[in-house]
Amino acid sequence: MSRYPFTQFIPAFLIAAVACAVAPMAAHGSDDPHAAPAKPIPAAAVPAAPIATPKVGKESPPAPESKAAAQSKTAAQPEAKDAPRDAKSGPTATPQEVAARIAERLAALRTAKSEKNLREATAHRPAPKKRMVEKADGAADGKEAHEDMHKDMHKETHWSYGGEGGPVRWGEMNPEWAKCSTGNRQSPIDIRSGIKVDLEQIAFDYKPSGFSIIDNGHTIQVNLGAGNHITVGNRMYELVQFHFHRPSEEKIDGRSYDMVAHLVHKDASGKLAVVAVLIERGAARKLVQTVWNNLPLEKNETVTPAGALDMNGILPTRREYYTYMGSLTTPPCSEGVLWMVMKEPVAVSQDQLDIFARLYQMNARPIQLSSERLVKESN
Ligand SMILES: [Zn+2]
Repeated sequence: MSRYPFTQFIPAFLIAAVACAVAPMAAHGSDDPHAAPAKPIPAAAVPAAPIATPKVGKESPPAPESKAAAQSKTAAQPEAKDAPRDAKSGPTATPQEVAARIAERLAALRTAKSEKNLREATAHRPAPKKRMVEKADGAADGKEAHEDMHKDMHKETHWSYGGEGGPVRWGEMNPEWAKCSTGNRQSPIDIRSGIKVDLEQIAFDYKPSGFSIIDNGHTIQVNLGAGNHITVGNRMYELVQFHFHRPSEEKIDGRSYDMVAHLVHKDASGKLAVVAVLIERGAARKLVQTVWNNLPLEKNETVTPAGALDMNGILPTRREYYTYMGSLTTPPCSEGVLWMVMKEPVAVSQDQLDIFARLYQMNARPIQLSSERLVKESN
């Protein structure tokens, strides 16, 4: 099939190269479940089962990994680290143009990232997309194909909050992210004219838990050990992770807040429920300081502090809320997410706001059309 026997390693190598330059997608990164793949918290910290990645709601189950992608993944992971060595060891078998290209990429790669980062990123690399794998298979045709593939990968992986990878482009960057542009139940929204009813209380059952912190390139995310739950609508959801946006993504009657924390929960069937806690400037908050104290020095590096985090420390005193059906606010923008936005904001200090701002000046998706969705609010 391939004219060059060594081309088999090229997909793995290129994928690894790109992965180290790209943040792992938050469950698919980010929103949300948004953002980084939740990682199991070491048993030493939490005697709990690994946290599943709350990637998508029931309506859009995680795309099954294609056979080709699965194979590629299996092959890529153990080999990725060694790929550069392989590239050097077989120069006689390598057409010069391909070898030169690999050497060029390697050099760029090494300049950009330390070996440590390379190993980290490779280990956290999201599964390759089927489409990329198919492209890679055809890449033996030469450097143009490699060029295309590289461009393609960049296009698919580098979503951001501005510029070429900005929110208006998310839907076209990857077929699996189409909902970002075609969905009509997207988040965030500007919450106006909610219907006041006797909303049932959200039953929060949070307790001190092991936690780990990751800067996934889109936000600071805290993954929680098992045992934190909410019950609402006769359904129990487990808290998987929470993360921050600046400014708040959701607006209330046109007003946005300094920040928001999204507490991402998932039920046994995979349905997502996100509790949004609006944040405004005021007194310092201990829970936030604990997170900031343990910020990873590098992106995609996980810090697992000793001790426990008590998530009650992020909840407002009053428990009234708004609720509506929406989506993840980051690719893949999966819908079917139950949103509950707490009415009372909580305070963090100016210093604490400033710390996040130094890392993420702006990481909020713009307001989406509400499309006459029903919003209910507590009386
Ligand atoms: Zn979020």
